[in-house]
Amino acid sequence: MAIAEQISLINKQLNDSSARLIVVTKTRSMEELKETYAAGAVEFGENRVQEMVEKQAVLPKDILWHQIGHLQTNKVKYIAPFVHLIHSVDSLNLLQEINKQGAKNNRVIQCLLQVFIATEESKFGLDFAEAESLLADPSFAQMQHIRIVGLMGMASFTENEAQIQKEFASLADFFQKLKNNKTGVSTGLVEWIELSMGMSGDYLIAAELGSTLVRVGSAIYGPRH
Ligand SMILES: *Cc1c(COP(=O)(O)O)cnc(C)c1O
Repeated sequence: MAIAEQISLINKQLNDSSARLIVVTKTRSMEELKETYAAGAVEFGENRVQEMVEKQAVLPKDILWHQIGHLQTNKVKYIAPFVHLIHSVDSLNLLQEINKQGAKNNRVIQCLLQVFIATEESKFGLDFAEAESLLADPSFAQMQHIRIVGLMGMASFTENEAQIQKEFASLADFFQKLKNNKTGVSTGLVEWIELSMGMSGDYLIAAELGSTLVRVGSAIYGPRH
């Protein structure tokens, strides 16, 4: 099926939920990205800094670029001038670097804390306690060039829907708790609005459990090579 048709199908499926679609464009060609933009999508997700920078340089400037993959501190400077939202903040150290680069670019960079909810060992992220202690760290309150706008998480890579449901529900509960307690909000640097969860295999489950951002690639373009 054509890219435009897949995007409109997914948007239709998300219609009754609070989730909106981020099209995950990593590894896809410029032609595919142009076709995606022509279909009306403007929120693109990439996981490699160099690839995002190269694509951003030549594509229309109204595209909102989401950094969804693990981000090394020494690469923050390349995306700081334009990145719309960094989903993968998993340390105070990284946040400090984002703040520094935000200052250099005279902007506030929006971030999500990536929380570990899967059973696999390989996935990045903070556990719930680590996320809370990051938000309570005194050095965090001093950062003028970042804003935490929510959480991101990835479920286990499994066919077991009950397992996926359980993991997303635990993240949604944690999100709700932070929101209810207004955790970090008094710093002026935190707003609990976005819950980024759901990929090609599990975005419908995530949308049902309160996701606001689903990150979908292969369900639109087919398998990655
Ligand atoms: C690649 C990737 C996605 C999209 O994966 P698909 O299965 O192709 O939809 C979503 N989130 C993250 C963090 C990714 O790295």
